[in-house]
Amino acid sequence: MHGRPLIGVVPLYDREKDSYWMLPGYFDGIEESGGIPLMLPMTADREALERLVLSVDGVLLTGGQDVSPELYGEPAKETCGEVCPARDAMEPRLVETALRLGRPMLGICRGIQLLNVRLGGTLYQDLPTELAGGVSHHMEPPYDRAEHTVKVAEGSPLAAVLGKTEIGVNSCHHQGVKRLAPALEAMARSEDGLVEAVYMPSEKFVWAVQWHPEFSHKSDEHSRMIFRTFVEAAARSEDR
Ligand code: MN
Repeated sequence: MHGRPLIGVVPLYDREKDSYWMLPGYFDGIEESGGIPLMLPMTADREALERLVLSVDGVLLTGGQDVSPELYGEPAKETCGEVCPARDAMEPRLVETALRLGRPMLGICRGIQLLNVRLGGTLYQDLPTELAGGVSHHMEPPYDRAEHTVKVAEGSPLAAVLGKTEIGVNSCHHQGVKRLAPALEAMARSEDGLVEAVYMPSEKFVWAVQWHPEFSHKSDEHSRMIFRTFVEAAARSEDR
């Protein structure tokens, strides 16, 4: 198959409205990079996920609710925020399927947390009370500006793409990577030591970031570079 790569995007869920929804930034970031976004259905059906992942060239794990601590075998603290059982059921299977079928994957915010958990890591359930590092990870809108800096790991794929060792990023997340999964390498950290970007060295392209390039790609070249690197990896996918 040729032409522009198709990117399967995990749907967002609004509990109050009992609705699936999408932030335009995810779709715009993909389209501006030459990809075609396609919102996936909310399903944990293994056969459906297999067909869906086979049909796309890459998978985008979007932001959203807190990840249920059940997924990494810990009781939920009172400080854990709203969770989304449907996504908690779908995404670990989606990640597993995408890895098995070799599809490039980009995780954003909840996406880095979900990927870390699926690969055996754990999370801070509530950053403000569990990581007192003096860095604000919960900014007020507008979100298309930097809230804190991250140090980009030298020699990491992110450093190679950005050509920088430090960048400013936006920050709007309640949880974060605590114990990093063995299959993941950190490629950026904020000043409090929190892992803000990871990749999977065993795979051609599995990246995830804790910040939100979907909010900043219009004004921030680094955000565009992340989308572009992902979509280009999907375009090179051998199964196309
Ligand atoms: Mn942050």
